[in-house]
Amino acid sequence: MADKPLYRRVLLKLSGEALMGDRGFGIDPKVVERLASEIVQAHQLGVQVGVVVGGGNIFRGVKVAAEGGDRTTGDYLGMLATVMNALAVRSAIDRLGVSAVVLSAIAIPALCETFTQREALKHFAENKVLVFAGGTGNPFFTTDSGAALRAAEMNCDALLKGTQVDGVYTADPKKDPTATRYERLTHQEVLAKNLQVMDAAAIALARDNRIPVIVFSVHESGSFVDVLTGHGRSTVITD
Ligand code: UDP
Repeated sequence: MADKPLYRRVLLKLSGEALMGDRGFGIDPKVVERLASEIVQAHQLGVQVGVVVGGGNIFRGVKVAAEGGDRTTGDYLGMLATVMNALAVRSAIDRLGVSAVVLSAIAIPALCETFTQREALKHFAENKVLVFAGGTGNPFFTTDSGAALRAAEMNCDALLKGTQVDGVYTADPKKDPTATRYERLTHQEVLAKNLQVMDAAAIALARDNRIPVIVFSVHESGSFVDVLTGHGRSTVITD
């Protein structure tokens, strides 16, 4: 049996790229299924899980702007991409027999509920997994900021950032073989060293609300539950 979880309620941030597997674009249903099963395992341990999904596997506003398009429109397209991903994650969790709900910062009533803190807390009380879509609902932000925002609003004990690598390194470990992983950092160190963990707005929001950020690899099977129970490799960012 897995150990007792260290947290009562957490926010898991999954980038859009985490959902695309090796495809280079879009959603790989097999990968979504595996991630859903990790979320369900955490839920079965009694952890209340909120998930913020990104949209970078489909659309990014900055890319549109770099090609001469309108940034704000591009960002709304990015936010719509996060809704697509959230629907895929919700339906994979549902298929595993756990009730999940998509709460979007942008109202799309035919597809999902619109986020309000009050309704979200009711869903947690009903033992559902919450999938937050639409980021912050505003252009010029990212879903990392959306994750920090929802973690603060939902009074989460920790923000778990699932990435391609198992923590924060002194340099990019794919390019620099001498790079080493930090075990612990403060939010302030992440900002001062300009470490590429999450965008600065997200880290500052987590710092101001005293939310620990735990960076771990979502590619390793079982890593989410491992981190929730104090095992596995990660970098813990606290104040
Ligand atoms: N986005 C936005 N406001 C938000 C969240 C997201 O405008 O609050 C847009 C932005 O264009 C971003 C895209 O949605 O590039 C996808 O989100 P993000 O890049 O954070 O996704 P991830 O990198 O996590 O896949």
